[in-house]
Amino acid sequence: MGPPGVGKGTQAKRINHELEIAHISTGDLLRTEIRAKTDVGIIAKKFIDKGKLVPDEFLLDIVRDRLKKTDCDNGYILDGFPRTLDQAIGFEIIMNESDQVLDKVISLSADEDELVDRLVKRGLESGRSDDNSAVIRKRQKIYWEKTEPLLDFYNKKGLLKNIDGLGEIEEITDRILITIK
Ligand code: AMP
Repeated sequence: MGPPGVGKGTQAKRINHELEIAHISTGDLLRTEIRAKTDVGIIAKKFIDKGKLVPDEFLLDIVRDRLKKTDCDNGYILDGFPRTLDQAIGFEIIMNESDQVLDKVISLSADEDELVDRLVKRGLESGRSDDNSAVIRKRQKIYWEKTEPLLDFYNKKGLLKNIDGLGEIEEITDRILITIK
């Protein structure tokens, strides 16, 4: 978990490579739906382009389906999910259905202004339609309102590890690996 631009995707890819588990980015799954112009994709695009969260029921369906794939049998790392309390509760139900447990929640933190600069740069390079400064600020605001309270939810369960998200990419990966291995 962590605000937009903190490096969740970059780190999740490195961790999944290291641990040989599946990497599940709900943002990537939604962007795949958008490219394929599915019904979900058409609805999701409207929310994503405004920097808003896609409604919980879509996310829970997408995640439930994705976790049934065999590459998740050895475990998985979720990137960008859950983002609301209702998603976290829905995710607990999904895990219970298949006798799974959540091992750890990693929260990456960093300075907000630095993150905006990083994301504007990413938008120029990748063409991601939601990486422009107005939408980024909106996504950050939503993070603090809807997602950040989840840290307390997971902290109370004893699952949360806070990691400083500033520094070299390799260094941050090492910090994460130490806490989860
Ligand atoms: P990301 O690639 O994780 O930055 O996600 C890009 C956008 O996809 C977000 O700003 C949301 O609009 C949408 N999205 C991704 N994951 C979720 C989620 N768990 N809940 C709601 N919307 C999401």
